[in-house]
Amino acid sequence: MLTFPALDSPQQQLRLTRLLEAMVAGVFYTLVCALLFLQGMFRIDAGAFVWLLVGLWVINLGFPALVLSGLNQRLRDPSMTMALILWSTVALMVGVYLLDEMRPALLLVYPMVLLFGAFRLNLAQFLITGMFGVLAYLVVILLLLQWHPGVVDPAREFTVLVTFTFVTLGMALLGNEVSRLRERLHQRNRELNEAVEHIEKLAITDHLTGMFNRRFISGVLRRQKGLADRGDYRFAVAFVDLDHFKEVNDDHGHAAGDEVLKRLAEIIREEMREPDYAARYGGEEFLLVMPLSDRSRAWHLVERLRERIAAADMNDIVAGLKITVSAGIADHRPGESVETLLERADQRLYQAKEAGRNRIVYSDDAAAAGEDA
Ligand code: GH3
Ligand code: MG
Ligand code: MG
Repeated sequence: MLTFPALDSPQQQLRLTRLLEAMVAGVFYTLVCALLFLQGMFRIDAGAFVWLLVGLWVINLGFPALVLSGLNQRLRDPSMTMALILWSTVALMVGVYLLDEMRPALLLVYPMVLLFGAFRLNLAQFLITGMFGVLAYLVVILLLLQWHPGVVDPAREFTVLVTFTFVTLGMALLGNEVSRLRERLHQRNRELNEAVEHIEKLAITDHLTGMFNRRFISGVLRRQKGLADRGDYRFAVAFVDLDHFKEVNDDHGHAAGDEVLKRLAEIIREEMREPDYAARYGGEEFLLVMPLSDRSRAWHLVERLRERIAAADMNDIVAGLKITVSAGIADHRPGESVETLLERADQRLYQAKEAGRNRIVYSDDAAAAGEDA
């Protein structure tokens, strides 16, 4: 099968579709001309008529050929809208020139040519193409007056020209309006997509810390459990809770408390690696979800976090402020529900608090601050 690498992009495909639509219009134009020719309306013989059609189609087909070869992409306007409209105008006016009585009939086709620009042209371009159409018709009349004075009635042609000018101007303004509506629609669509993206982000983000929120991490947990249920994937969760945070609020104010939460979020973000997830689960409680590639990894990760927080400099928030956290970690057991898993991690967090805070519990024995048995 024939393949066209130049058609790889959606834009190229769209350009080709548009051109093929224009080619269909060209087929109709050819049929109308053939009909007029059969009725003896053209001022030329069959041989010349056929050669004109051949010439018309050689150039017509050049447009889609340029897109198929990809050469159009080197042009300033790869859609070749202007070029196609100007060429169609010329082709139309050749037909108009060769007709006598039925000249205005063929002129009726011109607005359709101009409307093709509704896909792309701006007002100035519309006016230029419209003016080109009017001038082309003027040239046709002048040529007729020069070479076939018998077939033109100057007064009548003047009326036709004026009408043609008005219709063309109207079509140019209308086409421009359509073009602008299209552009505005595109713009709205872009804005809408951005808004949806923004809302999607808001829906999963905690507004104070910028971390994922509980809703998001709950989805992560469901997916992790799904993975674990299917095979040999393992993961662990950790609840990390600030110690005596109420005192920070009470002693230094809620705003200082908020700053501490933000600082903690920063530290967690820095410590977490690609496969891990962290979220602000509740007020001053964070939930971490970690794949268990290596059994001791979860403990090391949370321990490093605990040490960093305990050593963190919070002097810019409150001079001399020291913050510690306690954590409870639990490995997901095969078949275990998310709720049970979280409950076990929460119990261990409670044990860590009971045992004096600023520590991690990773087994059901409160005294041991190490790995699961
Ligand atoms: P423990 O070591 O037992 O966890 O003690 P704690 O004081 O941290 O625990 P407690 O549950 O008694 O208090 C939690 C505090 O966290 C109370 C609440 O004011 C504070 N808090 C929760 N959310 C926010 C928040 O968004 N901003 C601030 N500044 N404080 C918050
Ligand atoms: Mg607390
Ligand atoms: Mg708490």
